[in-house]
Amino acid sequence: MSEFTGKSVMVLGGSRGIGAAIVRQFAGAGAKVIFSYSGSPDAAAAVAAETGASAVKADSANRDELIAAVAAAGTLDIMVINAGVAIMGDPLVMDPDAVDRLIDINVRAVYFAGVEAGRRMHDNGRIIIIGSVNGDRVQMPGTTAYALSKSAVQGIGRGLARDFGARGITVNVVQPGPVDTDMNPVAGPLAPLMHSMMAIKRHAHADEVAALVLYLASPAAAMITGTTQTIDGGIGI
Ligand code: NDP
Repeated sequence: MSEFTGKSVMVLGGSRGIGAAIVRQFAGAGAKVIFSYSGSPDAAAAVAAETGASAVKADSANRDELIAAVAAAGTLDIMVINAGVAIMGDPLVMDPDAVDRLIDINVRAVYFAGVEAGRRMHDNGRIIIIGSVNGDRVQMPGTTAYALSKSAVQGIGRGLARDFGARGITVNVVQPGPVDTDMNPVAGPLAPLMHSMMAIKRHAHADEVAALVLYLASPAAAMITGTTQTIDGGIGI
């Protein structure tokens, strides 16, 4: 038995990377986990088979599909809004459609999923949004669209913390620095530059971020709300 045994957990974007690590840790702690995916059905099926979690196809860029998936998950105890995309490049030449899609997934979906989860959530529930250290700081050029999206979710987190606080629901934003995933592989060309700016000079493991998410979801964290929790190895301090 654990504090999560039998708890109803939804993870948006659980097929790969940080989201898959979160699914694994909640499922391993005895929670009933449902997670969404969009472009990686094989990876989603593998995570579901490994953990016993349920996978549901729902594109976070499609508002109606997203809200329907959250509603279908029923009365949740814990919602983790992790699904996100990153694009980098010169904003003078960046494809505006790609920027719009990033905003749809990283910002609009966070708002609508958070609202829908709160509508149906048990009292004393938990909403955890995966932001980024780029919500606070921008260490290199070419990240304006991504940074704007991760700053925006700080406002969503603080706002929903006020909106749902009377019911004991907490809302927090976890802000990773470099994490070794498909989005930011440790073998990528920018890794040495990132490490040079860090006090702890390595990528985090997705499991390290998941452990912080589980803490914020635990009863021990009942008075932590409206915060940003940075887990970045001291990048740019
Ligand atoms: P990955 O690219 O490794 O995984 C992204 C996950 O999000 C996948 O499960 C993917 O599912 C899902 N996803 C993406 N787009 C959609 C969509 N339209 N609808 C539904 N699901 C979607 O990224 P990470 O694990 O690294 O990133 C997870 C979160 O952490 C993101 O919000 C990211 O911004 C944030 N982050 C990551 C950092 C890093 O260094 N890795 C640093 C700071 C923050 P599928 O493939 O099935 O579509």
